Amino acid sequence: MKKDKKGKSVSRPKRKSLPKKCMFCSENKEPHFSETEILRRFVTERGKIVPRSRSGVCAKHQKTLGLSIKYARHLALLPFLER
Ligand SMILES: [Zn+2]
Repeated sequence: MKKDKKGKSVSRPKRKSLPKKCMFCSENKEPHFSETEILRRFVTERGKIVPRSRSGVCAKHQKTLGLSIKYARHLALLPFLER
């Protein structure tokens, strides 16, 4: 635990708990670059890839998800950045 100068413990405001189940595991799917509707759910409105801690995707699928988002960007199916 981090403490400030006065010795009080500093804690961040807690975020709402997010679904921990991986969407791709539960639906028995694999992320694919052509499925832009699904890929858009894992991209912020600014065009960033949502981190695993926020999306709840497992490590295996986050890896393939990131790669397929990057490939979809390369094919101009997804934007690199929005504004
Ligand atoms: Zn998974």
